[in-house]
Amino acid sequence: MRITIVYDNQTRRDDLRADWGFACLVEAFGRRILFDAGAKGHILLGNMEKLGIAPASVDTVFISHGHWDHTGGLTDLLRRNTDVKLYVPASWRDYPEAEEVIRVADPLEIGDGIRSTGELESVEQSLLIEMEGGVAVIVGCSHSGVVNILRAAESAGKPRALIGGLHRFNQFDVLAGLGLICATHCTAHKDEIQRRYPDTWTDGGAGQIIELPDG
Ligand SMILES: [Zn+2]
Ligand SMILES: [Zn+2]
Repeated sequence: MRITIVYDNQTRRDDLRADWGFACLVEAFGRRILFDAGAKGHILLGNMEKLGIAPASVDTVFISHGHWDHTGGLTDLLRRNTDVKLYVPASWRDYPEAEEVIRVADPLEIGDGIRSTGELESVEQSLLIEMEGGVAVIVGCSHSGVVNILRAAESAGKPRALIGGLHRFNQFDVLAGLGLICATHCTAHKDEIQRRYPDTWTDGGAGQIIELPDG
């Protein structure tokens, strides 16, 4: 499995634009899933182009929650590729038209080895991808709570990697069992998490590519 951060508050490459928001491309089990869509369409599409990700190559879009910094680029993406399955949390009602829209409330199998936690706390869903020894957990802002998300992920397998925004999360001990932590976007306590988990910490930022062993 490969995860490429496309849109983030910071960037690792001078040719990519940093902007408040989050999006990443998840390549797993033969699928190409855009997880969230950043805040601005032109930045999303510009970064995708520089990363060699053609909009038409995306087959699935998974929106974690309805906030502007995760959905703002979606309309422009769908203009370039109408043939996607769009998974949105059930509480978000302002989603744009797409070929097929799946409104997610309960835990859901999206495909082989790919699941949604379901919408937790009526705000946000997270993406679970099977990997060696458990699952990778991909999150938007973790408004539903990292502890709740990791608990929900357990139903699919032991959480092995956590990637995305953790907002104001500060119950640092629950990260102890993870093999990879990429806390980025809105994460308030990046420095503290990195200090506690130097071996599993992985920097975020647009252009970051994370490869994880398949399950
Ligand atoms: Zn948010
Ligand atoms: Zn956010």
